[in-house]
Amino acid sequence: MSYLVLARKWRPKTFSEVVGQDHVVTALKNSLKSDSVHQAFLFTGTRGVGKTSLARILTKALNCRNLIEGEPCNDCDSCNEINAGSSIDFQEIDAASRRGISETKELLETIPYLPTSSKYKVYLIDEVHMLTKESFNSLLKTLEEPPPHVIFMFATTEFEQIPPTILSRCLQLNLNSVTVEGLTEQLSKIFSKEKIKFEKSALDLISDAANGSIRDALTISEKIISYSEKNITEEIVREVLGIPDERLVEELLLNLKDKNTDELFENLKEISNDTSIKNIFINLMNLIKKVSINQFSQKKDNTFNSSLLEIDPESLQIFYQLCLVNIEYIDDSPDPKGLFEMTLLKMLAFDLEEKKNSSVTEKGKNYNWSDLLSELKLGKVLSQHLMHSNGILQNEKFIISLPEEKKNLLSEKNLKIIENQLRDFFSIRDLKIKIDTNFELSTSPINLKEESVKRNEEIVKEKIKKSDSYKKIVSELKPEIKKFDNSE
Ligand SMILES: [Zn+2]
Repeated sequence: MSYLVLARKWRPKTFSEVVGQDHVVTALKNSLKSDSVHQAFLFTGTRGVGKTSLARILTKALNCRNLIEGEPCNDCDSCNEINAGSSIDFQEIDAASRRGISETKELLETIPYLPTSSKYKVYLIDEVHMLTKESFNSLLKTLEEPPPHVIFMFATTEFEQIPPTILSRCLQLNLNSVTVEGLTEQLSKIFSKEKIKFEKSALDLISDAANGSIRDALTISEKIISYSEKNITEEIVREVLGIPDERLVEELLLNLKDKNTDELFENLKEISNDTSIKNIFINLMNLIKKVSINQFSQKKDNTFNSSLLEIDPESLQIFYQLCLVNIEYIDDSPDPKGLFEMTLLKMLAFDLEEKKNSSVTEKGKNYNWSDLLSELKLGKVLSQHLMHSNGILQNEKFIISLPEEKKNLLSEKNLKIIENQLRDFFSIRDLKIKIDTNFELSTSPINLKEESVKRNEEIVKEKIKKSDSYKKIVSELKPEIKKFDNSE
């Protein structure tokens, strides 16, 4: 059984067979029933969600001789011809390979001719965003006043690339990515009819890997069927798709939590070289995310080990960050497993360290001295004075640097006030202020402010110089200026 057979065999032939696009189907059926047919449709959505399938069904419905409740009969000559791909009045064009102006003109030349046997002549242009600008322009002329017997259907994954003039003449139908539940339901229907045995958990894994695309779900299924001799088990799906065992990922996280280094290394030994390390990374991140959400959610998910919930939320954040930073290198890494091992070791080692640092700096890390001054309640005079200084938190010391001659203005009393305020702000009880007179002048708030004012002035000057009205005034005035200029 090849992919084409399965996908073609189960391609929806009626609106009711379309998966996960109820909103679009209802809109189309209603418009068919009321006989208010648009002349240009645009189907948008990610790959493999059924854009061209829907366009074909709509074409059949528009030309069907026994339309039943808005559904094509799939029995009349017109329906049969479209299903067999032999209808002369239905043209399917792939814009990716026929994007040029000459090809578009060739197509448009056929438009004036009436349909041979159908009510409408339908042009389905797939990947329409690939058309050249000239092609769009010539298409636009036809779209502005299409002959009543012609209907255009466009399909695209990237509707942002379509000119607004075209968009405004189309009825846009946005197809959703199909949900995991929707895909699983459809697969179980198909497998039952194909007399293929399956485990429900196996279908969930296939649907998850298909990323919302019904076509991808079928492609993956095809691959797995060829391995599984008509009995699809979770184990086979994991093997074929390189999806790690959930239990393993869970154990990894538990061992990280308990800092069981030895057992963690035992887990790593279980990971064979065939397993996709990227998938393990992704699964670990998903599990961390799931645990985090569960810690904050009222509705508890009971599908995973509850002792995972005991992991400190801050540690989970750090684990997630470390995965995120390291997964970026996985595709280029000569040793993905090594990269994964090093990431886990970092989680073991840096967990406490990072936590210590983050609790100290978390509140202050997004503050620069200037912001901090406006947060602290120091009184106007003292704040003004400190605008000429610079301040930075280093471990538990707060270093205020300012020029030697300004140092005397900070009395003991004032220093105490600042110190107390900073202690409260950073929640560091033993915070001490240190005065540094090696002052870097350019970074004080007052200097930064002056610099930014200067920069803004320059930008405004530049803009005025470039403006047309300025140029006009100058060119008009110039002769006058020359006339009265005595130096010449
Ligand atoms: Zn029909």
